[in-house]
Amino acid sequence: MKKHWWILGSLIALLALLVGTVAWQQQTSKQAAAPTKDSRTKQRTARSTVAKPKVKPWIKLKQPLKLPILMYHSISSGNQLRVPSRQFQQEMAYLQRHHYRTLTADEAVRALTTNTIPSKKVVWVTLDDAYKDNLTHGLPVLEQTKVHATINAITGFTHKANHLTLSEMKQMKATGRVDFASHTVQHLDLNEITAAQQKTELVNAKTWLDAKMHQNTKVLCYPAGRADGTTHRLAKQAGYSIALTTQEGLAQMSQGRYNLSRLRVTPGMTTATFASLLAVKNN
Ligand SMILES: [Zn+2]
Repeated sequence: MKKHWWILGSLIALLALLVGTVAWQQQTSKQAAAPTKDSRTKQRTARSTVAKPKVKPWIKLKQPLKLPILMYHSISSGNQLRVPSRQFQQEMAYLQRHHYRTLTADEAVRALTTNTIPSKKVVWVTLDDAYKDNLTHGLPVLEQTKVHATINAITGFTHKANHLTLSEMKQMKATGRVDFASHTVQHLDLNEITAAQQKTELVNAKTWLDAKMHQNTKVLCYPAGRADGTTHRLAKQAGYSIALTTQEGLAQMSQGRYNLSRLRVTPGMTTATFASLLAVKNN
């Protein structure tokens, strides 16, 4: 009888030991998996450092923004719409030397619609019609001077010999120095066609650019600067945020967001005249 009690006691002790060991092991592994409060804080700090690089906030203006939008076409010579590459080089070098922040299309939209600027001196360089010389003569200058420019492309002209092809446009965009806005499909005078035709020109150009260039095209530039109230309404309906004319002057939202003025750069213009175009203080 005594022997039986001894065996039973030993078995109970063994069982208790076994249960205790398993429980202890589970507790230990749980502690290893669960981070301590201290290590959690460290992880959070590390994550927020990666996710939020220090971005300089844009300057909120007290007065409505007056934005100089330069208008170029071909970088060559021959007529009043063509600016020779040497002049273009000198003007872009001027912007770099005087620390102008050259806006992208998206930045220009943001600046105008929120009345803020990323830097005290801002300018938006635009080139109309997407001529092939924008690649051969324009891009090397933009890369050398670190200037950004927006090219207003005629989406139905990309197969024409003296215009940029789609692959050339993609190549230019990939440099980070150029982006593309809409200059309609066929460069028709919008005042001379019906509202339905205008709608097709505005919508199809945006659809093409959005799909082919993988972007949301926010800027429209009217062919020959021509537009009326109907065009402004259609531009809004098509999804554009702003539109550019060829009316001379600094762009201001009071002109209407689908009716913004630009500054024409003419061949032979002196650097002093060029500088005076940009001379505006925003505060
Ligand atoms: Zn044009």
